[in-house]
Amino acid sequence: MQTIQATNYSVFFNETGYEKLASYLVPTHYSKIFILVDENTSQYCLPHLLNNLATEIEIEIIELEAGESHKNIGTCTEVWAALSELGADRKSLIINLGGGVISDLGGFVACTFKRGIDFINIPTTLLSMVDASIGGKNGVDLGNLKNQIGIIREPKAVIIDTEFLSTLSQREMRSGLAEMLKHGLIFDKNYWDNFKNLNDLSTDDLNELIYQSIQIKNTIVCEDLTENGIRKALNFGHTLGHGIESYFLENENKTSLLHGEAIAAGMILESYISKEKGLLSNEEYHEIKYIINDIFERIEFDEIDINQIIELLIYDKKNEFGKVQFVLLDGIGKIKINQEADNELIFKAFEDYTV
Ligand code: NAD
Repeated sequence: MQTIQATNYSVFFNETGYEKLASYLVPTHYSKIFILVDENTSQYCLPHLLNNLATEIEIEIIELEAGESHKNIGTCTEVWAALSELGADRKSLIINLGGGVISDLGGFVACTFKRGIDFINIPTTLLSMVDASIGGKNGVDLGNLKNQIGIIREPKAVIIDTEFLSTLSQREMRSGLAEMLKHGLIFDKNYWDNFKNLNDLSTDDLNELIYQSIQIKNTIVCEDLTENGIRKALNFGHTLGHGIESYFLENENKTSLLHGEAIAAGMILESYISKEKGLLSNEEYHEIKYIINDIFERIEFDEIDINQIIELLIYDKKNEFGKVQFVLLDGIGKIKINQEADNELIFKAFEDYTV
């Protein structure tokens, strides 16, 4: 697969990726390599990476507990301390081997340790391949509020090896699919159409779709790295999706939701708002709702849940001058940014979602 060029780095695939990695990892470039893993990627992904890693530089492994609840400043402090104790200097390199939690947190740690050291992302979940590892957003949650602390800085490189997906659960695969669906909805109707018959997709088809998804995200980010305009499109489904994810994270009576599961619900809700505002046809809305509900289990919300999720929207990062800003669909494949919706309409969207 052809290398994809981002603004300041490249996304390399499979063998080319490991060849490029070997060319970066020479003693004149880096003093030490730190591979950041979680307990699962340590078991399932690290052996494969080490088999493919050709370097004479000393390697240290830093292992974290897995899961979103560890994507916080406390974990960063542990990693900063480990780097310091293990002798990291400004010529050290961090390789983030894992899903979006590892790349978000590892990227943030790298950007802040000694005012910034290089990092390379090697994503191991579908979600991190098509989304989290690409585009230079790094950060952590503040309590249960998603991604409140962070920095935009691009990695040195991203290496995609879809072999890693062989050990990923079906539930995690579906979670990643949510972001791929989003790429079709916001940018390319033809790409979206691929997901109408998921059962017909082969592994080769999936690899091609991963490639196209990365291209879509990269095209958007290259136009607007710091999210002043078009990059906001990538937040479609995320205004309500992040609210739902945060609410379920903090609420002990709720089963935990994966990022993509919350975003899938957020995309249906925000499609409803798009329809009510006359931007999306009734037919398109029902197509989106049908396809997403066919892949993801419907989430139960009662009135208290809905009101509390709406309250959480004041923390959304896109808010400007205290107003919640939505990205809405202007037909499938097109978007409108900076759209407002009153609480009554948001409530109606939840009511429609549950029927
Ligand atoms: P994750 O990193 O928690 O990974 C999901 C689970 O899969 C974890 O338990 C992990 O240990 C396990 N795992 C990872 N690779 C595996 C493999 N190959 N085999 C078996 N198990 C494996 O979650 P995620 O879904 O990858 O990422 C979600 C995070 O990404 C969220 O925090 C979200 O906010 C963030 N995100 C960031 C961006 C961005 O632009 N920076 C974009 C989208 C999402």
